[in-house]
Amino acid sequence: MRYLSTRGHPDRRRFCEILLEGLAPDGGLYLPESYPQVDAATLSKWRQLPYAELAFEILSLYIDDIPSEDLRALCAKTYTEEVFGTADIVPLRELEDGVYLEALSNGPTLAFKDMAMQLLGNLFEYELARRGEELNILGATSGDTGSAAEYAMRGKKGVRVFMTSPDGRMTPFQQAQMFSLQDANIHNLAIEGVFDDCQDIVKAVSNDLDFKRKYKIGTVNSINWARLLAQVVYYFAGYFQATGDDTQKVSFAVPSGNFGNVCAGHVARMMGLPIHRLVVATNENDVLDEFFRTGVYRVRGAADTHETSSPSMDISKASNFERFVFDLLGRDAAKTRALFEGELGKAGRFDLSGDPAFAQAKERFGFVSSRSTHAERIATIRDTDKRFATLIDTHTADGLKAAREHVTPGEPMIVLETALPIKFAASIVEALGHEPDRPARFIGIESLPKRVIKVPKDVEAVKRYISQHCD
Ligand SMILES: *Cc1c(COP(=O)(O)O)cnc(C)c1O
Repeated sequence: MRYLSTRGHPDRRRFCEILLEGLAPDGGLYLPESYPQVDAATLSKWRQLPYAELAFEILSLYIDDIPSEDLRALCAKTYTEEVFGTADIVPLRELEDGVYLEALSNGPTLAFKDMAMQLLGNLFEYELARRGEELNILGATSGDTGSAAEYAMRGKKGVRVFMTSPDGRMTPFQQAQMFSLQDANIHNLAIEGVFDDCQDIVKAVSNDLDFKRKYKIGTVNSINWARLLAQVVYYFAGYFQATGDDTQKVSFAVPSGNFGNVCAGHVARMMGLPIHRLVVATNENDVLDEFFRTGVYRVRGAADTHETSSPSMDISKASNFERFVFDLLGRDAAKTRALFEGELGKAGRFDLSGDPAFAQAKERFGFVSSRSTHAERIATIRDTDKRFATLIDTHTADGLKAAREHVTPGEPMIVLETALPIKFAASIVEALGHEPDRPARFIGIESLPKRVIKVPKDVEAVKRYISQHCD
């Protein structure tokens, strides 16, 4: 298996070459040259497998530069009951007739990002040891990504994490999750500014190529192909749990921000998993809903990006979206480049409404979309608690609302549960008048000692901290 860039760079790379990279050299995103096809016989064989074995089978189709027995061991070490709370890893339960919740948020940080990040931590450690190299991960977080990365990389050999976050702006629970880690390879830098300042600092450090090379700076952002690949597995696992045989179709409703989660669903569907609809659920930051309704993709400015009660979906542009558009355009790299570099760079938007390809988004690729407001999230949380005695978080509420709008009678609709309610307790209190339950291991974490250093909003100060903590 080789990987290509969505913008047409002539090089073809192998999995471990792109594992530790972000964008392709031409600014495009990596995708496999073709999607391996899974036939009915393979599906029925996979139906019986435990999650870690299923992960190994799927990953094997995309990774041919890690020996099989090593890859199998990495999957077995990652997807355990101990890390993910249940032997099923992603248990499915029926909520109402034909609508299911697939739990993706029982990992260490209680959000679905653990599903991929835990594997990434083990892959990084493996590959760095094989190369005899080190990596310093520099990131910016407003909550979920930073904690998932830290819990995945803590104690890993060859890896350090330098995670910037806006001082005092994450929820108390999120701060406690990150800052209570005592591992020597984890560094929390609370920047005296907002999330955009953190992102600007990370960009500035990464653009200093000498510094980047000297200190081996890398990232773990959502455009990383290995993260996306790890997420493909739970679409198969959800399908097997919701169906009795492999002739049935299902649909998925996916709370979306950077289009990483639902893009994994697109990959599963391209491989031949019988998926009817992929429902893209957005909140008030409806860049993606606008595209799937109108064919216009319009990146938002900072002033047009709303702070909502499903904050992990508060995006101004969807960084994985280029992967889907490349497939939608029949894998035309020149056209993809013209849209994402040319038109988006110049005008901040492109318009496919007049392009025959646009109709294919729904007809051929199964995509539909929906948008929710704060009031709708609160109403959905309240209603789900009252009628089904089930507590869901604000992101999952966006997904459930979207699911109900697109459900097909007689066909399972699976809502991906992307976080547990405890992470967004204020909205639960607003909806129900009381705090959500807290898993036992998180009781009292707000009062644990905190390991965090305050750093001014200054690129040089961050560089100085990294250089002083790199030996
Ligand atoms: C990251 C995140 C999302 C959005 O996922 P994308 O892959 O960016 O589309 C949704 N819900 C939660 C809880 C998240 O942490």
